[in-house]
Amino acid sequence: MSATETSVAKHWIDGQWTDSEEHGESVNPATGENIGEYAMAGLKEAQAAIEAAKRAFADPQWRTNRLLRARVLNRMADRFEERADDLVEFLGLENGKTHDQGRLEVAFAPETLRFNAALALTDVGTNSQVSEGEFSLVVRQAVGVAGIIAPWNSPVALGIRSLAPALAAGCSAVMNLPWQTAQTNSLIAELVGETPGLPPGVANTITGGHVSGDVLVRSPDVPTISFTGSTATGKQIMAAASANLKRVGLELGGKTPLILFEDADLELALPTVVSALIVFSGQFCMTGSRLLVHERIAERVRTELGARLRAVKVGPAADPASQMGPIIDKPNVDRIDKLVEEAISQGATVIVRGGPVTDGPLAAGAFYRPTLLEVHDNSMPIVQNEVFGPVLTMQTFTTEAEAIAMANDSQYGLSASVFSRDVDVPLRVALALESGSVWVNDWARLHDQFEEGGFKGSGVGRMRGFAVIDDFVEFKHVRLRPGTTPAV
Ligand code: NAD
Repeated sequence: MSATETSVAKHWIDGQWTDSEEHGESVNPATGENIGEYAMAGLKEAQAAIEAAKRAFADPQWRTNRLLRARVLNRMADRFEERADDLVEFLGLENGKTHDQGRLEVAFAPETLRFNAALALTDVGTNSQVSEGEFSLVVRQAVGVAGIIAPWNSPVALGIRSLAPALAAGCSAVMNLPWQTAQTNSLIAELVGETPGLPPGVANTITGGHVSGDVLVRSPDVPTISFTGSTATGKQIMAAASANLKRVGLELGGKTPLILFEDADLELALPTVVSALIVFSGQFCMTGSRLLVHERIAERVRTELGARLRAVKVGPAADPASQMGPIIDKPNVDRIDKLVEEAISQGATVIVRGGPVTDGPLAAGAFYRPTLLEVHDNSMPIVQNEVFGPVLTMQTFTTEAEAIAMANDSQYGLSASVFSRDVDVPLRVALALESGSVWVNDWARLHDQFEEGGFKGSGVGRMRGFAVIDDFVEFKHVRLRPGTTPAV
């Protein structure tokens, strides 16, 4: 039976749909209405999934057959493509993403799966005749059961971003997806789990939270954790994982600076700044949340960007005219607004107040209009801490060095954008920024063949690119004396 036909969204463990004693209710953040029930994983489900993955890894049919892995990953990619519209629908209903933004997320999954199918076929190591008759070779071996933990803001793209390389490497996996997107998780579990050729127990998907996530992190049977989420949780996971000296790949929070130099093409830059703020309602690790503007163009930016942000049409995913959907829930709307109020009381100047939608047909939902605040002190909490909502701060600079120093004065280093028509400035600034990704005259452009990840508090290790496989393999050096002594 398909998960989408059942009334309760369930886990996929050892090749079977599995229920839990504890159930929760899924809510549409645009209306506050219940949209379904889900099984919530705790200790028992996480342990059952780990056991299944451990058994599947012990059977060599998966870890030693890279052709099978590549074939399965390509078939999985086909399945995600075939059901893309359904995934977009689920994300709209449960996560609040407009259909355009849902499509943006969903399109990543098949591309990532196909890239990793190719990666499964490139597991070549190095070898050498180190001296006469003596050889060394390095083989890559799958590390074992991979624990994958993904957040609610993009469960399709981020779950698959970790699962695909784990499977390509020959690991088995337990994917802990968040309860906030339980209905979507169930479709992900179906598309992954029911892929023809995938042995039972190789890819298990549970819907849970910190309890089931912590079981993965502490289990001695899970040698690697691939985590996407906040910097605070990443630190806890790294500390807990150290008890078993397990490796951790951490893709964490961000505070992306968008630097507008005096010669920036504002007709291109300003719509990009708006997108950088409103895509996924500002609930994106790469949300452009710090605008650094050369003082000579600051007045124009205040006026024109202010007008663009006031014009953003906030609404449910079901309305094709919506440009920005709701926040994940009402408590997060209150949390975001409190941070804005605090910033104003600490001296931030309001350019666009935005804020919660409290009247009209949208009042029952968790809507928050885009907000733009001008600040002069880089140490303010609103500049230093991730808001995870559509709140942008603006600061002015006079020199390139000042812009770089302000951008780098942050615990985070995930991504940055530079806007300039000069030929020298963008590359020079990109190289000076403490940031895992830098876009010139653009924002949030990611490709599977290029590494993605964070400097400083934004993470450890890399997703995507050729480095993605490193979290899931052991390198083994084998020294050979095969006996090439000349015959007498
Ligand atoms: P979070 O860190 O609170 O939780 C993420 C997931 O981790 C949860 O769904 C839960 O299942 C699990 N979890 C929570 N505590 C745990 C613990 N102690 N042990 C094990 N598992 C635990 O993050 P969130 O609020 O759900 O997501 C938003 C955050 O994710 C933001 O900071 C955002 O920037 C970050 N993020 C980063 C990237 C990236 O690629 N760098 C992408 C998307 C989101």
